[in-house]
Amino acid sequence: MNNASIDPGWIWRKVCEQMRTIASPEAVERWFCPLRILALSDEQVSLEAPDSIYRYWIEENYLPQLSTALAKILGRQVRVSFPTEQSETKKAATEQVKKAEKPALGMDGVSEMISSDGLNSRYTFETFIVGANNEFANAAARAIASAPARAYNPVFFYGRVGLGKTHLMQAIGNEIRRLHRSLPVQYVTCEQFTNEFIDAIQKGALLRFRKKYREVGILLLDDVQFLVGKERSQEEFFHTFNCLFDGSKQIVLTSDAVPSAMQSLEKRLTSRFEWGLTAELLPPQLETRLAILRHKMRSLSIAVPDEILSTIAERIQNNVRQLEGALNRVAAFSSLHPEKLTARQVEVLLKDLFSANSALGVTIELIQKQVAETFAIRVADMTSKRRLAQITLPRMVAMYLSRKLTTCSLTEIGENFGGRDHGTVLHAQRVISEKLQSDPHFQTIVRDLIEKLQNPS
Ligand code: ADP
Ligand code: MG
Repeated sequence: MNNASIDPGWIWRKVCEQMRTIASPEAVERWFCPLRILALSDEQVSLEAPDSIYRYWIEENYLPQLSTALAKILGRQVRVSFPTEQSETKKAATEQVKKAEKPALGMDGVSEMISSDGLNSRYTFETFIVGANNEFANAAARAIASAPARAYNPVFFYGRVGLGKTHLMQAIGNEIRRLHRSLPVQYVTCEQFTNEFIDAIQKGALLRFRKKYREVGILLLDDVQFLVGKERSQEEFFHTFNCLFDGSKQIVLTSDAVPSAMQSLEKRLTSRFEWGLTAELLPPQLETRLAILRHKMRSLSIAVPDEILSTIAERIQNNVRQLEGALNRVAAFSSLHPEKLTARQVEVLLKDLFSANSALGVTIELIQKQVAETFAIRVADMTSKRRLAQITLPRMVAMYLSRKLTTCSLTEIGENFGGRDHGTVLHAQRVISEKLQSDPHFQTIVRDLIEKLQNPS
């Protein structure tokens, strides 16, 4: 088909139709309907938008979906472009949005500085909001910062993504840099550690690598789960660990799971991680979420109405990074269209984040009931010791969903499944995640379950 002869208006209407199948009607109405096709060539479609926030918004949030929709309609891949000339005011508006949205900007709006010791000055104890969810971890972190290697060693923080592990670990580093100037601190993610190690082997620079990590006063090693399956890096880290530990140097580690649950991480490593203190970071409660939002709002020097802050805090429960992202988005929007910032608009702006968190009210008990019903087993089998395959699979599904849809910790989940330990829950999570990837039929069943749990009729 020769697309040149097709009316661009018709094509764009088709695009909007397609987008309605993947985005909310409000989002399509807001971000797509006002656009127009300026020019269409074999490889490219140029779009005209009322102002630059559309371009920014679409590029940030919808570009892959838009490309797919266009490819379906035109029968070929095309690049999406927006005309380059922007008036100065429009450019400024885009900059303003970017400034508010970019997480790489410090809370004061100044670019972050990450120094060679890996520390980012934005993450401090002052900017870390303490609640029941992280009280213990925070106290441990402060104790280490004031008396490195004397309070607890090693210290192991664990918890799901976006709950402040990196922030807390960096806060220790920044505080030590402030209080104990002569003590060299090194922060590194396990991914960096591994890459540097491989690089050192290839370049014959192992000696320098070892010196760098074995002569520090305090080592902050982030995301230890990355070492799983990387035997040589584990081995190297094992020796680094021993060297520092024997020299009474402080070691702090973080991971998404407790040491014992990291199967295929060498036993001699995980047992060392447990020598000192382990502390879990949990999702914050509502009032802590509100406190975090208020704090961020002040440091960004923005004003968001209380009612909207409450909505964000109520609806985003499991991830502080998402909480921040939501606030940034709302702030960006309101700086451009303050008069349009209504509760309904917030729903549209944050639809994806809200639906990712829409598990409000889902309990382990409800999950067990629903899963038992779907797989036609008894609810009592969720907590029983029976190990028939017809029972263990649904039980693992229920554990997986409890992890996904509630804010309960691994330990709490295990307890609710007949006093099983957190390792069993993690194992279930892994088995189900793998099965979901390889079995589309199973995927449909689990997706329907989630749908039912989140939207009970
Ligand atoms: P993790 O390492 O656990 O994935 P991060 O430490 O990267 O999480 O935290 C994600 C974002 O949330 C960061 O911007 C961090 O500053 C912020 N954050 C997390 N917990 C808190 C808290 N208690 N108070 C203030 N900000 C927090
Ligand atoms: Mg992290």
